[in-house]
Amino acid sequence: MNINLLDDNPYLLLTPGPLSTSKRVKAAMLKDWCTWDRDYNDLVQEIRARLVALATDRTEDYSSVLMQGSGTFCVESVIGSAIGADGKLLVMVNGAYGNRIAQMAGVLGIDTVVLDSGEVALPDLQKLEMTLQADPAISHVAMVHCETTTGILNPIAEAGRIAKKHGKIYIVDAMSSFGGVPLDVADIGIDFLISSANKCIQGVPGFGFVIALRERLEECKGRARSLSLDLYDQWHHMETNGGKWRYTSPTHIVRAFYEALCELQEEGGVAARYERYSRNQSALVTGMRSIGFRTLLPDDLQSPIITSFYYPDDPSFTFVDFYQQLKSRGFVIYPGKISLADTFRIGNIGEVHEEDMRRLIAAIGHVASAV
Ligand SMILES: *Cc1c(COP(=O)(O)O)cnc(C)c1O
Repeated sequence: MNINLLDDNPYLLLTPGPLSTSKRVKAAMLKDWCTWDRDYNDLVQEIRARLVALATDRTEDYSSVLMQGSGTFCVESVIGSAIGADGKLLVMVNGAYGNRIAQMAGVLGIDTVVLDSGEVALPDLQKLEMTLQADPAISHVAMVHCETTTGILNPIAEAGRIAKKHGKIYIVDAMSSFGGVPLDVADIGIDFLISSANKCIQGVPGFGFVIALRERLEECKGRARSLSLDLYDQWHHMETNGGKWRYTSPTHIVRAFYEALCELQEEGGVAARYERYSRNQSALVTGMRSIGFRTLLPDDLQSPIITSFYYPDDPSFTFVDFYQQLKSRGFVIYPGKISLADTFRIGNIGEVHEEDMRRLIAAIGHVASAV
């Protein structure tokens, strides 16, 4: 395939990471950067400081670590570095990403309790409270913020209150929400928050980041079960070497991410981005309902990030056909990821606006009446 640098993308990605990025973000990748040069490392330090400032007003107590790989690598670095040999993890699960945390803990040989509330229900906070009361060996509680499997938005503040009341360390996978849904890690009592470059900050994929209490990061020293995913070592190296990564850093992606952070600021910060995403999601659902589609979740459980829709009643409907026809009209959507019903998903984050949602609805109206 020939790549013409001046061509627009052939389609809009309505998938929650990788997502559609701006030309400015992509253009930042057209230069090569040296990994030990001062300019590059200063940029890394600036990014780290900006991430902390996005996460809390109490910036002096928190720090951030960037980690090579996709978001999962970052989650695994936290699970494998934050929990000591005699620690015990409680994971609240209502989808694939919560399950993935439990799976990691299994691979790492960490004693784990799973509280699974099924695919379309909020976590059971009463059960959380009771379990923490009954099992004092639990040292860490983990929860996914926006469970991208369905689009459900989990109550991280309420769960955080319970975890803190019992003196537990609180880990939040805010992969698909950080930068797009306002929060303050200090107010909620989050010890470790994890996200990645290619979600609501609207960068390209290749690294993730952790925002954590400095005190907690210090405690991770010597605990990691992996060399390359050692969160403490990665943090300590960045702290003491002025922004230098251990091992090769994804230079182009980091440079693009900086541009994405500037765009977020220019848009008006997280609050403004949240407003845009909410408008997108609302236009999407209103439009889809007007042409006969039903959402998997009731509106009060729904995040402004990604929405699951049931297949239409039409017995001839196939996702593959639907997907292909939409792709040829300039929109790429996501298959469903749950077992209890046939669904597909549409994301509305990235360089995507209300007008795009209206064009999408027109295309779906056309395609769905033809399938
Ligand atoms: C995207 C995502 C991840 C990480 O997935 P990767 O494919 O490793 O980037 C983790 N948790 C949630 C909730 C996500 O949406």
